Amino acid sequence: MSINFRDQNLIPIWSKVQRGKRLSLEDGLALYNTNDVIALGKMAHFVQQQKSGDAVYFVLNQKIEHTNICILSCKFCDFAVKKGDANAYEMTTEEILGKLSPEIAEVHITGGMPADWPWERYVDIVRSIHEKFPHADVKAYTAVEIDFFHKKFRMPIEEVLRQLQAAGLKTMPGGGAEVFSERVRKLLFNQKIGAKGWFEVHKTAHKLGIPTNSTMLYGHVETLEERLIHMIKLREAQDETGGFLTFIPLAFQPGDTGIKPTNQFTSAIDDLKTIAISRLMLDNFPHIKAYWVMLTEEVASVALNFGADDMDGTVGGEKIAHDAGAISPMKLAKNQIIKIIRDAGKIPVERDVYYNALNVYADNVVGKIPYLNSVPFYHHFEKRQFKILPIVPRRMGLLEDKAQIIAGPFSLMDYFRQEESLELLPFCIATRDQVKSVMLFSKEGWLDLNGKIIGITDDTATSVRLLQVLLEKKYGVKATLERMHAGVNDCSKFDAVLLIGDEALHRNKHGLAGFELVFDLAKEWYDWKKLPFVFAVWAMKKPLPEKTKQELSSLIERSLDMSEEHFGEIGELHGKRIGLERKDVEEYLEGFSYRLGEREREAMREFRRLVEEINMINVHCL
Ligand code: SF4
Repeated sequence: MSINFRDQNLIPIWSKVQRGKRLSLEDGLALYNTNDVIALGKMAHFVQQQKSGDAVYFVLNQKIEHTNICILSCKFCDFAVKKGDANAYEMTTEEILGKLSPEIAEVHITGGMPADWPWERYVDIVRSIHEKFPHADVKAYTAVEIDFFHKKFRMPIEEVLRQLQAAGLKTMPGGGAEVFSERVRKLLFNQKIGAKGWFEVHKTAHKLGIPTNSTMLYGHVETLEERLIHMIKLREAQDETGGFLTFIPLAFQPGDTGIKPTNQFTSAIDDLKTIAISRLMLDNFPHIKAYWVMLTEEVASVALNFGADDMDGTVGGEKIAHDAGAISPMKLAKNQIIKIIRDAGKIPVERDVYYNALNVYADNVVGKIPYLNSVPFYHHFEKRQFKILPIVPRRMGLLEDKAQIIAGPFSLMDYFRQEESLELLPFCIATRDQVKSVMLFSKEGWLDLNGKIIGITDDTATSVRLLQVLLEKKYGVKATLERMHAGVNDCSKFDAVLLIGDEALHRNKHGLAGFELVFDLAKEWYDWKKLPFVFAVWAMKKPLPEKTKQELSSLIERSLDMSEEHFGEIGELHGKRIGLERKDVEEYLEGFSYRLGEREREAMREFRRLVEEINMINVHCL
């Protein structure tokens, strides 16, 4: 991709971005100070495309602000009142349940902090929602509220989170971060926890397997440098835990706070710059959110080409920003969100709370396995009429079932299951011997895993079946497999864990604490069968027009041909984020066969035979 820079100061930064190098505070300041906003947006869009292709995520969600009574008095807050005030309200659990409906996928709960609510009331809200609406994931209580519970109810933060998790809490919102600056905290919210307390809560949540969001309130009294330090602190924490799902820049709504004149909102240029710069600075964050409630629909729509890939959701009635004068609607209909995303040229992807794709609303969507080993198919892929959706193998199979995806490198198990409706292409992701990215990290040797519990990632069907085949057929061992939903932070309870993709590749190089033994499943297969292992095969829907099939096939072939000459370039761009050097990536990619030959077909037949022997072919997931 080439960019015509009007600001020459951006050229060295662009060079860093293209080589996957991390940006510094000084780079961030140069980006904020540029007038070349279009070039800035293009750089951010380039990074966003690497991470999420053409996808823009949204969720059918309902915001619940259970009370506006708060013991604190943050200067920028137009929402909180004191008990007894005329407009004070407290919702009962029944009133909260009455606001929900079965199609809601996420319930987002934040509110004030009243002095007299018992602990059980907070837990009961989460439990009641979870029990009555099991398909709605609960995202509840900011770090400020968790810290409040910890102090008021004299429980360690970890215990507060454990009890909420047991009641049904899935993720946490990112509010309460404001700006990580002691100067600003003393000026605007001196009763609230600062950066140290906020990070302590979030890191504890990540340790328990509760992913969280993160925010930054900007456009009040903070400096540009303070915004960038805020982003860098988040980036460092993400390096440590990997538990943040998204970053949400929140544009300050002046309201009647007196901090800024009532009508002095952040400018659209400042909003778009902040979105773009956060995409460029936060290289280890999967998503950047354009929160339309604070940005307005118009700015949020443009932000989707400035690095954002997340539109939040339908929201269903929001008070905090609107009490402060937000001019956006209180809620958006699903169709309006889909239209905004389509108008931006993107794929609307309805998601769950973990960003798993539930439905896509676009034509000609081609799946992309979001791991390093599939990059050669896409590195030089010209999209033309196609749209690219990065999606983990198991989810790709689920979307194929719904006919929402026309082609992709399907997990081999999904191909077996759906082969009548699919046409095989001559491309695959197969190993020669070892794979390095489908790894069993274990406390025990293979034979000692009998009767033990193995945690398996939620991302894969084929690797799980390969593990079962190896356990049962190669080693004669029966173990219980249990899905893990939130990365590797909660894996200590397992005797072994199966990881795949870039996470496995990273852990293979850097280790996984507590698991001394590491087994490469493809190597185990090769040593046993002397065959490659085929993890995925390219296939497309049979009824597609012949012209579309030919075009897609030749685009894949061309990208593969060009990429095979430049594995080093791919290593340069993608290695850093996984903690690998350029040469590690080159070696890794050279270990794959990307073309489906007779040896790969023989390996597929043998694997299929073994899978059928243990009668697993139609079991879609555990
Ligand atoms: S921002 Fe939150 S903690 Fe501060 S006064 Fe408002 S509701 Fe209370």
